[in-house]
Amino acid sequence: MEENQKFIVNGKRIDGRKIDELRPIKIEAGVLKRSDGSCYLEMGNNKIIAAVYGPRALHPRHLQDPNKAVIRYRYNMAPFSVEERKRPGPDRRSVEISKVSREAFEPVVIKELFPRSSIDIFIEVLQADAGTRVAGLNAASVALADAGVPMKGMVTAVAVGKVDDHIVLDLFKDEDNYGQADIPIAMFIRDGKIEGITLLQMDGQITKDELKEAIKLAKKGCLEIYRLQKEALFKRCRGEDFVE
Ligand code: UDP
Repeated sequence: MEENQKFIVNGKRIDGRKIDELRPIKIEAGVLKRSDGSCYLEMGNNKIIAAVYGPRALHPRHLQDPNKAVIRYRYNMAPFSVEERKRPGPDRRSVEISKVSREAFEPVVIKELFPRSSIDIFIEVLQADAGTRVAGLNAASVALADAGVPMKGMVTAVAVGKVDDHIVLDLFKDEDNYGQADIPIAMFIRDGKIEGITLLQMDGQITKDELKEAIKLAKKGCLEIYRLQKEALFKRCRGEDFVE
C-alpha cells in the first residue's frame, strides 16, 4: 500500500470490492481421511484447513468433565503462511485466538451429550491475508458438522472494520493493517436465523453508531457465508448440489 493511498475511490475498495462485499469464498467439507470431520476453506487469499477429532474419550482423566464434553481448539499459523516467516509453535496471538474461538463454539455445541469426552478442533492457516480467525471459525463449523458433532446451529464469522471513515465488510490485509478499526464477529445461526453473537473483538476506534452499523453489515456477510457452509455440507452428504 502506497503512502496517502485512499482505501475507497468512487465507492470501490483497493481490491475492487464494494464496501459491503465479501471476498470470494470456497468451502469443501471432508478433505482429510484421518480426522472425523474436516474442511478446506478459502476466503480471499486466506487458505485454511480444519480438522475435528471426537467426541472421544478425554485423557488424562483429570481433564474430563463428568457432565459434558470439553472443547479444545488449536489455531496454528504455518511459518510460510505470512510475508515475514512466522516462528513455528504457539505464541501469545495464537493462544488468544484459540481461546476466543473455542468460546465462540461453547454455546452452540451440545456438549451435554458427551460427558467425559473431548471434541478437538485443529485449525491450520496455510496462507494468511487478514481475517484468519474468522475464516478458521467458518472452517471449524463445517468440520464439526462433517464430524457429526451435534450442534444447535452453525457458527459463522466475518471481520468488519473501518477504513477512510467507511464501515466495510471482510477486511483484507492492507485494510486490516492500515485501516482505522478491525472487528472480527462470529454469529450463531440456526435454520438461517441469527440467534446471537458468540465472538466480538475490536481493534481500533469507532463510535457506538458505527459499531451498530458494523454489526448489521456483519449479519449480512454471515448469512451469505452460512449459505456457502450449508452448500458445502450438502455436497459432502449427498454428493449433490444444494437446492434451497
Ligand atoms: N500476520 C502476519 N504475521 C503474524 C500474524 C499476523 O503477517 O505473525 C498477518 C496475517 O496476514 C493476518 C493479519 O496479519 O491474517 C491480521 O492478523 P490479526 O492478528 O488481525 O488476525 P486475523 O485478522 O488473521 O484474524
